[in-house]
Amino acid sequence: MDGLNWKRCPGGHVLGEIVREAVVYNGRRMYATRLKLFRQAMTEAEADVIPGSVAATIEGTAPELYCSICDATTPWIIGQHETERLVERWVTKRRTLVQG
Ligand SMILES: [Zn+2]
Repeated sequence: MDGLNWKRCPGGHVLGEIVREAVVYNGRRMYATRLKLFRQAMTEAEADVIPGSVAATIEGTAPELYCSICDATTPWIIGQHETERLVERWVTKRRTLVQG
């Protein structure tokens, strides 16, 4: 699996997998960012070899996700992830324009 898509707790344990899924919105095919939250947190080494058992798919914001290993909490903020992606795309486009 692609380790870059893990949602981690502050202690680095893997809480779930961040996925992009196709959705139809207003008749248009779009992509939504969702979190497949695992029943049990895993270490990164475990997550690389064991398929996570998904307890919930989260779309939108969750104020607190609890790590079952270390009890730390971390928020899942959809807007943050999406905004970073959009900004990245904008910067890339702008850079291309400047260079061109
Ligand atoms: Zn943890």
